[in-house]
Amino acid sequence: MASSILEPTASVPGELKIIQDATCTFCGCVCDDIDLTVVDNHITEAKRACVLGKAWFLNHSVEDKPSCLIEGKPASLEAAYDRAAKILTDGKYPIIYGLSDSPCEAQRVAVSIADWISGTIDTTTSVCHGPSGMAFQGVGEVTCSLGEVANRGDMIMFWGSNPAESHPRHFTKYSLMPKGMFLPNGRKDRTMVLVDVRKTKSAKAADIFIQIKPRRDFEGLWTLRALAKGLELDAKVVLDETGVELAVWKDLMDRMKAAKFGVIFFGMGLTMTRGKHANSEALLALTRDMNAFTRFTAKPNRGHGNVTGADNVVSWRTGYPFGVNHARGYPRFNPGEYTTSDTLARGEADSAMTIACDPMANFSEPARRHLASIPFIALDAKETPTTRAAAVAFTVATYGINTGGTVYRMDDVPIPLRPAFPSPHPSDFEVLSQIETRVKKILGVTA
Ligand code: SF4
Repeated sequence: MASSILEPTASVPGELKIIQDATCTFCGCVCDDIDLTVVDNHITEAKRACVLGKAWFLNHSVEDKPSCLIEGKPASLEAAYDRAAKILTDGKYPIIYGLSDSPCEAQRVAVSIADWISGTIDTTTSVCHGPSGMAFQGVGEVTCSLGEVANRGDMIMFWGSNPAESHPRHFTKYSLMPKGMFLPNGRKDRTMVLVDVRKTKSAKAADIFIQIKPRRDFEGLWTLRALAKGLELDAKVVLDETGVELAVWKDLMDRMKAAKFGVIFFGMGLTMTRGKHANSEALLALTRDMNAFTRFTAKPNRGHGNVTGADNVVSWRTGYPFGVNHARGYPRFNPGEYTTSDTLARGEADSAMTIACDPMANFSEPARRHLASIPFIALDAKETPTTRAAAVAFTVATYGINTGGTVYRMDDVPIPLRPAFPSPHPSDFEVLSQIETRVKKILGVTA
């Protein structure tokens, strides 16, 4: 797999270099049509990138610090690899967490390490679309690529998602504006519906905005399921439960049934409110119901650049998407038990490795306190509260800008990375591979 990673070429001083069709990994849209202008290892232009993508590329600078620190002191990479392997193999309950801003090649090695050390592997999915991951396992997923949406989608729904701010090119590149094979007039051929608890910036782009009562997504979705089945509903109860008139829901259902190709993009406004995985299950079940009338699909709007890759890699290595424990020698999936924020908050893990994430900045206080009390390794391209608290901290090259590899777009389509210029720091793939070699040596694995 290492050989499939495209390495960046070094710049000649003063020479202007153009990287065509580079991939932006700032959000789950993973736009792979960005033309980068590079001068003296600095990106001066990112053509076609949105405001977030431009900030990602143009503000990028290589950290001027040692590639590794042990207990806060500069150390050789060899010493850091050895210490990291020892921490992981000494632990009785080691956990590996993060991975949504790493390429698939590195994710794959991280899963292998978790397997060798009988540890837990978990990704940031457990704190964003974890409920959707559970729902996919329970209900299944009627899905499609973003290319199909661009070419066929005439009924575009967003539920609890605000792409105008979180995924700025979603509308223009994939879901609303493109003139598709079966939608020659682009935006004019599509109906856009936004369901949310507040009027976000995305509401401006909507033909229909439905403001639902906070924490009543489940009720709204089951209202639509009932209407899909043709059941009679009490208008007062529907209004009380959802905050929306029954007539509005009926009109929406009529439009959904009349569409040729519908898609519901859903976000954390659905998955992280009351109901959580039950909300995601309701939305996936509604999508399935709609296929009795027309073609309808559902897609989560994913945030991090390769969080979808993390779900895919962990799934194809273990059978489950996140929160997987190997303590018994085979994978077990139990969100709440093996998800990192919970494991740490209960004080259960005794060693850890975090990769491209910052739990010391965003986990609960008990979880942060416990993480600070155990030996752990952190890999990140930037200095963060987590790297500062780590026993071994690696500064790694930034994926997509300094290293190649593969990422998965939010629709599960793999996209290659085209790096712009090299970094003096190792990639997370390199660091993890070195740690894996040492872990195997300590454990006496010869294969
Ligand atoms: S939409 Fe997302 S992936 Fe595309 S350029 Fe903007 S930040 Fe990058």
